[in-house]
Amino acid sequence: MGFFDNIKNFKNKLDQVESSVYSGKQSLLEVYERNAKLEAEIALRTKELDRANRQMLTLQHIWDMMNSSKPLSSVLNAIVNSLQGDLGYMFSFIVKQMDDDNGTYLQVVASSGEDSKVKISNKFLQYFNCDLSDYRMQFPDIKELKDAVANNTIYKSRDLLSLVCGFVPAFRKDRVASFLQEVNIKSYILVPLTSKQVHFGSLLVFSSREDTSDSELNFLSLFAKQIELAITIADLFQAVKEQAVTDSMTGLYNRRYFEEFIKKEAVRSNRQGQKFTVIGLDLDHLKQINDVYGHNYGDIAIKAIAEVLKSNARSIDVAARMGGEEFNLILPGVDSAGGLVAAERIRKAIEAVELDKIGHITASLGVATYLEHSEDIEELLELTDQAMYESKRNGRNRVTVAKPAYETSWQEVAINTFIDILSKHRIPLDETTSMMFIKKLQEMNINNEKLYQVADALVSTYNPDHAQGAVKNKVQIASLLAKRFDLPKEDIDKLKIAVLLYDIGNTMLPKEILRKTEPLTEEDKMSIKQHPIIGAREILKPISNIVDIIPIIEKHHENWNGTGYPGQISGENIPIESQIILIIDSYFALLEKRPYREALSKDEALKVIEEEADKKWSERLAKEFIAIVRNDLE
Ligand code: GH3
Ligand code: MG
Repeated sequence: MGFFDNIKNFKNKLDQVESSVYSGKQSLLEVYERNAKLEAEIALRTKELDRANRQMLTLQHIWDMMNSSKPLSSVLNAIVNSLQGDLGYMFSFIVKQMDDDNGTYLQVVASSGEDSKVKISNKFLQYFNCDLSDYRMQFPDIKELKDAVANNTIYKSRDLLSLVCGFVPAFRKDRVASFLQEVNIKSYILVPLTSKQVHFGSLLVFSSREDTSDSELNFLSLFAKQIELAITIADLFQAVKEQAVTDSMTGLYNRRYFEEFIKKEAVRSNRQGQKFTVIGLDLDHLKQINDVYGHNYGDIAIKAIAEVLKSNARSIDVAARMGGEEFNLILPGVDSAGGLVAAERIRKAIEAVELDKIGHITASLGVATYLEHSEDIEELLELTDQAMYESKRNGRNRVTVAKPAYETSWQEVAINTFIDILSKHRIPLDETTSMMFIKKLQEMNINNEKLYQVADALVSTYNPDHAQGAVKNKVQIASLLAKRFDLPKEDIDKLKIAVLLYDIGNTMLPKEILRKTEPLTEEDKMSIKQHPIIGAREILKPISNIVDIIPIIEKHHENWNGTGYPGQISGENIPIESQIILIIDSYFALLEKRPYREALSKDEALKVIEEEADKKWSERLAKEFIAIVRNDLE
């Protein structure tokens, strides 16, 4: 091949390359353009996806919160918080118009970002020497704002001065102005919130920028949709919760279902004359499990019990978690003997469970049977409860079958009554104190002196001058007096319980009156006179197995000559048990120091008892009383 050929060849190749480069350039350009389009598309899609994801996450978040039964306000706080920092928002809050006796006011239901809020509220504190929440805020009297709410439209403004002064008209304008300058808030946006077509409140966003673009307003109204969604979901959730029949933690039936079911079961029982048994169960030492291993392990123990109940229940049985660590089972068609067998089987099955870390757990059970122990649901459940507590008292991890009322000792009734009053918060004692009392009562053996100590301690909570040991003395004297009046044993037992309880209504008296050092006013006296009634009715009435004791207590301030209260009945119309309580109570009160008088000696007190014979009490009662006190308490 010659030189020119070579050159020609080279030229051809060059042409080829050049043309290929050219066409390559073209395709590169195309690719570039295509890529750019794609990237924009992807960016858009990513954004959409991201937004969708975030919404999903928010929804998930809302859902989780609802499930953990957090109040709506904390869900809203979390949502409003997520605005923080974005787009230069200083802080945001949701306000709601509320009504009370003093008219309308504005309540902050949620607010954002602790950080910025703290900063701003510190500044606020500096400027106004108070917290915004110290004020009763009003919806600002600004026409545009009111229109925005009425028309459900978004509203933006730079006039923060009118807004803040509108919230609290008492603020000085110049102070507000310099405050706003200092915290650097330039504008605000109000977005009305509706849930199910009803106005709920408004989202208020405070921005460090003067301008708000349309796309930003769009963003905020979309954001408000999330808040509206949360509010709607919270409403729905509440409705669903109210319809629920199962307990979400264990899957067992809940208290509501149990209560409905037992009512129907009682109707069926009455119709067919067929018994049913209730087993009450309480996990032993759950507090200890919580304390040692943490609450999660406590929950595991509760769930383990639920599993045992599920696997041991027949299909017609109903196993319910009544709350906390307390379970009830209804066994239709089962009598107490069958109930005992079933309860024992459950007890053993629980004992056999072995849990991670915790090891073995135990439970205390009580059994009571409808149409056998009681024909009243309330009473039946109480008997179940009492039997369960007896299992606790006797060392836990055991089953106790309820005793019919006539076999129950008066101490047992007294202990159970105290537990009932305390655990159902019938008297205003603080939680720690009542827990302490309940524990003591649960632990004590029947026929034990400790009952008197607890009774003394309880009386001391409303009578600071109460002498330790007095309750025991009172019960002894009451019992001796009752024997002299030939009362049968059952009535003496009732009287003993009444002696422990007759002043329980004092727990409802205002402490100021009891502690008063100056003489009581007529009003105070009226209030004190109410206490036997309040005590008997309000506190004791729901405890069905002591209903007989209530009339005794109600009449323990009636005088023999009819000058007492509340019924002003006289003579033999006053039950002898009430007469006995009156004389004992009066005597022991005389021995106690009072803020307005010194304590009397025994002789002085007995002299008063004698003087009041035929007035406050019968001569016979006074005579018997004095004889007993002189002889037996020497
Ligand atoms: P006892 O054997 O006398 O029943 O002792 P206890 O510790 O089980 O009973 P107590 O009544 O003194 O305390 C019950 C504790 O159970 C107190 C409460 O905080 C806890 N508890 C109640 N509900 C739950 C729950 O759902 N989960 C967990 N982990 N603990 C709970
Ligand atoms: Mg327990």
